[in-house]
Amino acid sequence: MSRTLIRGGLVITAVDEVHADVLVEDEKVVALAAAGSTVAEGWTADTVIDAAGKYVIPGGVDAHTHMELPFGGTFASDTFETGTRAAAWGGTTTIVDFAVQSVGESLRAGLDTWHAKAEGNCAVDYAFHMIVSDVDENSLKEMDLLVDEGVTSFKLFMAYPGVFYSDDGRILRAMQRGAANGGLVMMHAENGIAIDVLVEQALAAGRTDPRHHGEVRRELLEAEATHRAIRLAEVAGAPLYVVHVSAEQAVAELATARDRGLNVFAETCPQYLFLSTDNLAEPDFEGAKYVCSTPLRPKDHQAALWKGLRTNDLQVVSTDHCPFCFVGQKELGRGDFSKIPNGLPGVENRMDLLHQAVVDGHISRRRWIEIACATPARMFGLYPRKGTIAPGADADIVIYDPGAEQVVSAATHHMNVDYSAYEGKRLRGKARTVISRGTVVVDRDRYLGRAGHGRYQTRETCQYLV
Ligand SMILES: [Zn+2]
Repeated sequence: MSRTLIRGGLVITAVDEVHADVLVEDEKVVALAAAGSTVAEGWTADTVIDAAGKYVIPGGVDAHTHMELPFGGTFASDTFETGTRAAAWGGTTTIVDFAVQSVGESLRAGLDTWHAKAEGNCAVDYAFHMIVSDVDENSLKEMDLLVDEGVTSFKLFMAYPGVFYSDDGRILRAMQRGAANGGLVMMHAENGIAIDVLVEQALAAGRTDPRHHGEVRRELLEAEATHRAIRLAEVAGAPLYVVHVSAEQAVAELATARDRGLNVFAETCPQYLFLSTDNLAEPDFEGAKYVCSTPLRPKDHQAALWKGLRTNDLQVVSTDHCPFCFVGQKELGRGDFSKIPNGLPGVENRMDLLHQAVVDGHISRRRWIEIACATPARMFGLYPRKGTIAPGADADIVIYDPGAEQVVSAATHHMNVDYSAYEGKRLRGKARTVISRGTVVVDRDRYLGRAGHGRYQTRETCQYLV
């Protein structure tokens, strides 16, 4: 047995901030004791980590990543190996990625494919949601089996006709199944049928630059789809989790539903909090770096997102990490914005960007941990193994230096992508030491982890229902 003692830090969870020493045995947290107490002073350990002046926080839980995702004739540029290593550098110790059912294929075949991609390659722990592209009798039955084996959330798309798209009838059926088996439906809420009309019209009129990607994916079509998803979930008697919310009008739909007491939840992402259509409009095709769906919105939407995070109308910040290199990948869409692969890198930056939000006064320290660690773990059935620091929890712990200064750059990041969406941004705070199930994987500027340390995590059903 190995014992690690983290001494002298401020332990911050979603509920508490306490000066405590943390004792780890092998892969688990076994005890916390008041700093300086006779209990804490009496502890001995093989490794003592000095955390004086630092925060001791749970490892981040990023509930929305797409490593190696096939999209638009290419693949997301981070593999499970490079993406989870970058996650570790950024203080994230669990990812929940999306296995994909292709049309005409079973859920099982898609899930097996994703297990094969990830197994033996991850630096930190990982789990899967299942993307359901083909709702039929078989896939509905398979949903039950997947819930039983720990894949307890299913993503459907109101966007991308001909690829991932499900019509309202299929969505309703999947939600009814989720209501019965405990599976949580996650929704990409954009009216893809209407958007495709606007895309066609824009291209025909010669509006081909990246900024038109944002213009055709209208805010109203996000709000409309969000509203429809909420109503369908209500009819099915099912909870709902809306992914990557970006429009103020969509937040309003969520707030209304929650005021009515519904189990309706949602995430936003750092790109919607820190970037805007100004980035999409950058000249010389640079805007392509910021093409994702839902799209970036005008800056004035950001206030509604921050407010939603404060009032709990938005519960989670995930990255939707889905990187494509500018050279050779984003460039596929020169002259036609609809051919730009959709997605942004961010798995390494999320914890630090949200800490900057603490520094800037948008959220409290405890809320930072809640939206980045505790609630995503609860939402997707990983709590309290993940998302907190408590006796019995996995020892996924970050010693975080709140005073460190960093400048975000592709030159120094660890994601396998040739640009940073936050190039040149100054941030206060940085993970100093990152521990994954009791093993130090990052210490100061050294990577000590290895591919294959990360372990697949089965999940309970949603632990966040009211
Ligand atoms: Zn996504």
